[in-house]
Amino acid sequence: MSGLPATAPVVIIGAGCIGASIAYELGRRGVKDVVVIEKEPFAGAGSTSKAAGGIRAQFSTPLNVRISMMSIARFKTFSDEMETDPVFFPVGYLFLLGDPGSWATFQRQADMQRSLGLPVQTLSPEGAREIVPELNIEDLLGATFCLDDGLGNPHEVTQSYVTRARQLGAVFHFGDAARGLVMDGGRVTGVRTASGTISTPMVVNAAGPHAAEVAAWAGVDLPVKAVRRHCFTTEPLPMARESLPMIVDLKSGVYMHRESGGLLLGYANPEEPEGFNLSVNWDLLERIVEPAMHRVPALEAAEVSNGWAGLYETTPDHNSVLGPPRNVAGLMLANGFSGHGFMHAPAVGQLITEWIVDGKPSLDLSPLRLERFAEQQATVEANVI
Ligand SMILES: Cc1cc2nc3c(=O)[nH]c(=O)nc-3n(C[C@H](O)[C@H](O)[C@H](O)COP(=O)(O)OP(=O)(O)OC[C@H]3O[C@@H](n4cnc5c(N)ncnc54)[C@H](O)[C@@H]3O)c2cc1C
Repeated sequence: MSGLPATAPVVIIGAGCIGASIAYELGRRGVKDVVVIEKEPFAGAGSTSKAAGGIRAQFSTPLNVRISMMSIARFKTFSDEMETDPVFFPVGYLFLLGDPGSWATFQRQADMQRSLGLPVQTLSPEGAREIVPELNIEDLLGATFCLDDGLGNPHEVTQSYVTRARQLGAVFHFGDAARGLVMDGGRVTGVRTASGTISTPMVVNAAGPHAAEVAAWAGVDLPVKAVRRHCFTTEPLPMARESLPMIVDLKSGVYMHRESGGLLLGYANPEEPEGFNLSVNWDLLERIVEPAMHRVPALEAAEVSNGWAGLYETTPDHNSVLGPPRNVAGLMLANGFSGHGFMHAPAVGQLITEWIVDGKPSLDLSPLRLERFAEQQATVEANVI
């Protein structure tokens, strides 16, 4: 761990995909000497390292569609911009709908998404099987598919941000936990860490599942809760071809995509309590295997190769909280991504940077202000998996 600088124009707490993206975007806009404080010894060690890598714009709220479209545009040019190998694979997201209510909702959402310029298709069950011949479609009513969606590599993306941000003057201060904020009246003026204090006029909270703790140091009540989520992978399977889309079986909540020649299976257990438990609940595999094999009978031949648990940083309406809290100056929130933080990282980096540098973001983010909860103005994002 190198020494903590005494001052910085901006201090970011957390070097996950969000903090790293913001550090890079600030550097791109000419803000030098940004300091990123990360308690772990390297970047992306938190939720970012557990992400399934899904990138999609098929959301239920127009704002999330717009944020995703902004991100996807940046993912498409990412390897040129960052001079890396490709990190984005537009294989598409296939949502499978089996009950009349959700099928009707997804058809309405597809109209909304198309009106925003997203090339989403509504398909018959047979149309879905043309894309994935291994699907059992007997109990499906329809599907939506968007080839702008796909998969990305959270590790590569985050490391690329760190590398480029450093080239642009950012300092990553690893292995030192932020322990408190220095306050002067209603303004944040610094960050206290285990090794010292750094003065700054602007702190960005990018602490992922720990964001509520950081906000509380400034007296801000941020309703971000940590909830454990699981992924399991299989040994290589013939159906796991490179073009296989992300498949989301909405009825069961199981999703799957290609991973290392096999499949990654994910599931959000609705009964999971809040908390920071990261142990793998292997019993959950039983709950996933049955619906997964129902939808894709070829999975009967699959052998499980690995499993891991990570933390979603969830809010009551499953939307992020972006921007400054009303009653505290010098604090910027980039929190509560509720399962879609990786895919939104490029746009969030850009938008938060615009807020800091230009005074306002180029997209109206007011629906994501913290105060929406107290004002009872929150709109739920329904398409969270
Ligand atoms: C199983 C699983 C699957 C997922 N799949 C997807 C997906 O397919 N697509 C998608 O878009 N998203 C997915 N997500 C969500 C995504 O991983 C998160 O939304 C995203 O990584 C959040 O990034 P972050 O930078 O805000 O948080 P993090 O990656 O957690 O980074 C926060 C960092 O802050 C650091 N930190 C915290 N407190 C302090 C402190 N006091 N001092 C210093 N450092 C601190 C932490 O160590 C951490 O490195 C998934 C999540 C899980 C768990």
